[in-house]
Amino acid sequence: MNTDDFKEVTNTTGTGSDSSKDDSSDYEDICYVCRRPEHVAGKMIHIPGGICICEDCLQKTFDAMNSIPGFSGTTPWQPQNNSSNDSTATSQPEKPDGDDKEEKNKSSKIPQFSMLDLNDIAGLFQGASPVPENQKLKKRHEKRKHKKGLLTEGPVFDIKNIPPPHRIKAALDDYVVGQEKAKKVMSVAVYNHYKRVIDSDNLLDSDNDDDIEIEKSNILMIGPTGSGKTYLVKTLAKLLDVPLAITDATTLTEAGYIGDDIESVVSKLLAAADNDVEKAEHGIIFIDEIDKLAKKNSATNRDINGESVQQGMLKLLEGAEIEVPVGASSKNAMVPMTIVDTTNILFICGGAFPRLTDIIRERLKKTSSIGFVADIGDEYDKDEDVLPKVTPEDLKKFGFIPEFIGRLPVVVTLEELSKEMLVKILTDPKNAIIKQYQKLLALDEVDLEFDQDALEYIAEKAQEKKLGARALRSIIEEFMIDIMYEIPKDPEIGKVTITRDYLEKKGSPKIEMRKDIVPRLESSGVTA
Ligand code: ADP
Repeated sequence: MNTDDFKEVTNTTGTGSDSSKDDSSDYEDICYVCRRPEHVAGKMIHIPGGICICEDCLQKTFDAMNSIPGFSGTTPWQPQNNSSNDSTATSQPEKPDGDDKEEKNKSSKIPQFSMLDLNDIAGLFQGASPVPENQKLKKRHEKRKHKKGLLTEGPVFDIKNIPPPHRIKAALDDYVVGQEKAKKVMSVAVYNHYKRVIDSDNLLDSDNDDDIEIEKSNILMIGPTGSGKTYLVKTLAKLLDVPLAITDATTLTEAGYIGDDIESVVSKLLAAADNDVEKAEHGIIFIDEIDKLAKKNSATNRDINGESVQQGMLKLLEGAEIEVPVGASSKNAMVPMTIVDTTNILFICGGAFPRLTDIIRERLKKTSSIGFVADIGDEYDKDEDVLPKVTPEDLKKFGFIPEFIGRLPVVVTLEELSKEMLVKILTDPKNAIIKQYQKLLALDEVDLEFDQDALEYIAEKAQEKKLGARALRSIIEEFMIDIMYEIPKDPEIGKVTITRDYLEKKGSPKIEMRKDIVPRLESSGVTA
């Protein structure tokens, strides 16, 4: 049998729609066996099960099958063994004894057809192909993502039916502590953005063009490090079940220079959307450390990762069709390209903007020194909370070009986390750090408690580090290592309480034994 026969078989059997190639596909086929693309291996043969094989591999397979004893001569239309003129049947003398003879006679009367089952061949190739293996990996990854993610229950909202801002904020409240204003502004901005997306999708589908186009509302988040900017965006993306790409602005450079070019942020989003262009076009791109793109006042050097990147990002923020590689981070001749339209992608830029408060104070003082309010000028020096008073002029002074500022019309400011907020972050969110440790020890059937004083100590330490909530985990990890090492040594331990004295290295944690806890529970009427 050769490949031409096989082509005939697939045509005549007509099993499955995928036996003929869909020519509308933008990508060339790749042989499931040798992995060579169509332009190298030549025309592909499509067999049921969505599999394509080059002619070389198919022929090799048939050659291999033909060399298997008992398989040779296996063509779908030729009987392999015909009793009437079978030479092998007549040349072998039949055994005289009963049963055996009968069997032989029976079988010799039935012509032995050996049909080629196309599904078997599909199975044969699937075994050799790495592609289904990849698909399995993806599924496993999906599962893991849901398990370890911020939200254990999966998406809450549907962007096609976006809930009102108060519901978005209420969902955020479960995860993000404090930052009330930021959560409110973000909820409204996200609500408006996806309403606009639905509106523009509807416009495409109908003739109902009322000439009113809602403008894009990209977001600028300003807040100290560790105040929850990235966390807020991640939580939102999870709640809305939209793909999210997080990039660091410091790695971006003008096209042609060492570093990531600006369009790479879109290919990251495409990868986050599992290469689904439509999904990516409704996603969110978060660009962190945006303050590092401020103009550098150097007269001699070209500002390749400051002002030039701002310039380069303008069309991306506004909405443009960008050609991006599929399944790779850089463009080269070997990877297929696709077009992603950024018009409906929500861009959120975030940064700590360290000098910005001084610029705002200076402006406030200047304006207040004119007229009768001159005496309150000094008050701004003491005012810790000047960030919400930021204006586009302040951002311009900070080093942003007006066009860039104009494309980020929604400005969200986050406050520095207070001690009380840090304590709440330790205990309140659904995935709070303390809850995670409690769960870990609960697996050893040990209760873990923290005294209020101990929690405050951890929050104070985090404040000293000036890294916001980001410092909390490392502080806890430092002493929890000892606890997690020592406790499993003694199976009699039933409860551990972390005290401030222990954290200040003045004492040890409170340990309670199982036998002491159980009678106490019993006496209080609690039964298992
Ligand atoms: P940044 O503002 O620098 O982007 P992150 O969002 O990365 O800070 O915060 C670091 C970590 O601190 C987050 O992963 C989150 O666990 C925690 N965190 C920060 N702010 C909050 C908050 N307001 N509520 C709950 N957790 C927070």
